[in-house]
Amino acid sequence: MTRPPRRNGGARRVRCRCGQTMLRQLVGHRAALDVTADARELTATEAAALVEPNRLAWCLRTVAGGPDLRWLGGRHPPDCPHPHVIDHQCAAPAAPQPRPRTSRTSTPEGQLALDA
Ligand SMILES: [Zn+2]
Ligand SMILES: [Zn+2]
Repeated sequence: MTRPPRRNGGARRVRCRCGQTMLRQLVGHRAALDVTADARELTATEAAALVEPNRLAWCLRTVAGGPDLRWLGGRHPPDCPHPHVIDHQCAAPAAPQPRPRTSRTSTPEGQLALDA
């Protein structure tokens, strides 16, 4: 059995490829979630306003080991005094696809597979 060196690694500051500083942490049971959140600290209200179905807000606590992201569960108070951060939405384009663009007018996509 291997055991992680620390029970809770806490959040690390990392630089995203878009140039922004993010907080990164493995959150949840057995570190199920790999969270990257904007390092910019928000109030609970500001963070709640930015939440989307695929964008979560996190309560930023400072523990003995440093910053620690907590999931905003059902018991999270709307007037929580701690700073909050929200999932990083990267401004950098996704991994570039080296595939050249083809003209749509010549052949429908389905047709290409049939001809091959
Ligand atoms: Zn909070
Ligand atoms: Zn980014």
